[in-house]
Amino acid sequence: MSKRQIDVITTDESPICPRCGKEALLLARMPHGWVNASGELVDGRSDVVLCADCDADAPHAAPLITWFHVHGRVERDNSEEFVNLLVVWTEGMSVPPLDERRLETEVELWRSGNL
Ligand SMILES: [Zn+2]
Repeated sequence: MSKRQIDVITTDESPICPRCGKEALLLARMPHGWVNASGELVDGRSDVVLCADCDADAPHAAPLITWFHVHGRVERDNSEEFVNLLVVWTEGMSVPPLDERRLETEVELWRSGNL
């Protein structure tokens, strides 16, 4: 089973959405193209932002946006549901899953600048 790891970056300051310039809900750093067609692991990471405005109509993002409206922020005790929705969100992205097996996703929560 291949694994990919998604880092969710939580800070006291909200990330800024690169599309509309407003405060975004979430910044996640995720691998892209992690296994290429030859089965080689491709090392690449990209930052993606969840924006309540820009992503409101994205079907994979909507449940996660709703979660943020309910819970506000990610804490250890509510992270399980969050992680499930996060995985749905990331799987709906246009990250090319060239490996057709369903990947097991690992999510790492960390606070930048406060480790
Ligand atoms: Zn936006």
